[in-house]
Amino acid sequence: MARTAIRRRLTWRLATVAANASEARAVHRLSLRIDGWDGHLPGQHVDVRLTAPDGYQAQRSYSIASAPESPTVDLVVQRLDDGEVSPYLTDGLRPGDQLELRGPIGGYFVWHAELDSPLQLVAGGSGVAPFLAMLDHHAAAASGAPVRLLYSARTLDDVIGHPRLERHAERGIGVTIALTRDQPPGWTGLSGRLTPQIIRERVWPVDRRPSVFVCGATTFVEAVADSLVEAGHPAAAIRIERFGDVRGARRDSGVPTTRR
Ligand SMILES: Cc1cc2nc3c(=O)[nH]c(=O)nc-3n(C[C@H](O)[C@H](O)[C@H](O)COP(=O)(O)OP(=O)(O)OC[C@H]3O[C@@H](n4cnc5c(N)ncnc54)[C@H](O)[C@@H]3O)c2cc1C
Repeated sequence: MARTAIRRRLTWRLATVAANASEARAVHRLSLRIDGWDGHLPGQHVDVRLTAPDGYQAQRSYSIASAPESPTVDLVVQRLDDGEVSPYLTDGLRPGDQLELRGPIGGYFVWHAELDSPLQLVAGGSGVAPFLAMLDHHAAAASGAPVRLLYSARTLDDVIGHPRLERHAERGIGVTIALTRDQPPGWTGLSGRLTPQIIRERVWPVDRRPSVFVCGATTFVEAVADSLVEAGHPAAAIRIERFGDVRGARRDSGVPTTRR
């Protein structure tokens, strides 16, 4: 890759908020316009940096939730009420506001539309963000890769991008949602946590040799990775991205991860 392209990715630049809309309970979709954006691959993330008037800075990573074909770079941010950065991003930004950002970052947790092997996505909570980009890109690129998404959320109100996921289901994507806390009357999806048995049943079988991506909080990702390996999926076919604190994260499954 050209040195200038790398430098541009690592350089902080200004993004302008085009829209900030509620996407699920305590989750907002921030649509950003970024001058000179060179494009991205689905699965990559950006770093966002906030600077207080006294010079104090806080930096966090966010997956890009929009496809490369989108005119805006979108992030879906879950507000953690005791968080330092996420409440400002969800509640403090209006169209026209600017924030500092660098990226796109990451070359490992990415999906390429030319691959036609089965794609398996497993998300917990806001971990669905990079998969929204992958699914939109899959549609825009008219990819022939068969795709399944297994998505764990607390309640229906917590499902991020629900209408969008329903549209993907209508075009043949296997979308399975598991609600862990409350299920509305007539709910036909799964109830409860993703158990090893559910993972074995709902994920593409090992002999289909799927590429598997797992994203979410550290404990979720570790548990799913362990179950996948127990089910016979080779560790090398599983890519994981942890959104939470990586301190103390176990590596028993042997699945490689992006390092943060
Ligand atoms: C590669 C990458 C991509 C990410 N993409 C997204 C994304 O698309 N959307 C998104 O909402 N977040 C994403 N995150 C998480 C994000 O970077 C922040 O960690 C998150 O927004 C919390 O920041 P905060 O400053 O509000 O909270 P902090 O002030 O950092 O933390 C507040 C409290 O919440 C706990 N905490 C931190 N993160 C989590 C978490 N994920 N779940 C539960 N508790 C947590 C902390 O331990 C602490 O107790 C991503 C993280 C990584 C590493």
